[in-house]
Amino acid sequence: MQQIRGNSYYFNSPAAIGGYLFDQNLILFDTGNDDSSVRKAIRELGEVSVHAIFNTHSHADHCGGNAFIQKQHSAITYAPELESAFIENPILEPTYLYGASPVAELQNKFLMAKPSCVHKKLIDETPVILQLSGTPVVIQPILLKGHSPNQMGYITEDSVAFLGDALISTAMIDKHPLIFTFDVTSHLESLHKLFDLEADTFVIAHGGIVEDKALTIQKNIDALELTQVLILKAIESGASTIDEIHRSLSSYYHLTENLGQHLLNRSVIKAHLTHLVSKGKLNFSVAHGFLNITQQ
Ligand SMILES: [Zn+2]
Repeated sequence: MQQIRGNSYYFNSPAAIGGYLFDQNLILFDTGNDDSSVRKAIRELGEVSVHAIFNTHSHADHCGGNAFIQKQHSAITYAPELESAFIENPILEPTYLYGASPVAELQNKFLMAKPSCVHKKLIDETPVILQLSGTPVVIQPILLKGHSPNQMGYITEDSVAFLGDALISTAMIDKHPLIFTFDVTSHLESLHKLFDLEADTFVIAHGGIVEDKALTIQKNIDALELTQVLILKAIESGASTIDEIHRSLSSYYHLTENLGQHLLNRSVIKAHLTHLVSKGKLNFSVAHGFLNITQQ
C-alpha cells in the first residue's frame, strides 16, 4: 500500500483497496477481488491488525477479500444496509441479473464473492467513530447511490475520500463507455453531489487517485447521458424491445459479451429505461409476449 497523506493509504490492485493505518491498526476500505489481492495489500504494511472493513458496495471485486480478513483478524465489517444482503448472500447477485435461479455459468467469482458477515449496517451519513489504540478515529460515510443500489463512499480524517465505483476513471470510460449503473436517476444525483464533496483527494476503485475531479465527474455524467441519447435514437429508428435496443448499443459500442457481460449490459439498459420512463419520455406496453418500448 502506498501512502496518500497522513494515515491514509491505497493499494492499486485491479479494484483499489484503501487503508487507514494508526499505530499498526488498519482500517480497510474494500478488500479487492479475493484473498490474494488483500493479502498483498496488507503485506506491504508489515505486521498490522485489521480493526475494521468498510465496504463501498457488494460487487465481488470490492468485498472478495472480506472472508479472508475476517478469518485472520477480528475485523468489524461495515457496509451499506441493502448492499449487506448481497455481501452476506452472494447468490443474490447472479440471481437478480438473471431474474431466476441462475445457470451455473453465472455462479462465478466475478459475480459472486465468498460470503462474509456484515456486523454493522450503515443507513445514513452518521459519522462512525472507532477507537484505535484508545484514540478516536472518525470515518465519514457518504451516500452515493446509483452504480449499485446503496453504494457509499468514506472520508478519512486526512480528507481522503474512498469512492468505490461511484466514479469511473476517464481512461476506463474511454475503454468501456457503456458504464455500469443500477439506478440512473440516483447515479446522476450522486455525480452532481461529488462536485461539491468536501474531500481533498478522491480515490476510485478502477483508476486510483483522481487527478482532475471536475473533468472526471463531467465525463461520467456525459457517458450516462450519451447512453440515453443512443437508446432514444434506437427507438426513433424502430427498435421497440430491449433486445433491439441492446443490438443497437452493441453495434455502437462494439460490445463483445459473454453471458455474464450480456446480462450486466442488459441490466444497464433497463436502468436507463427506468430513468427515461420516470422522466415521461418512454412507455412500456406488453402485447403478444413482447415488452414494447415506445416514445411518449
Ligand atoms: Zn461496482
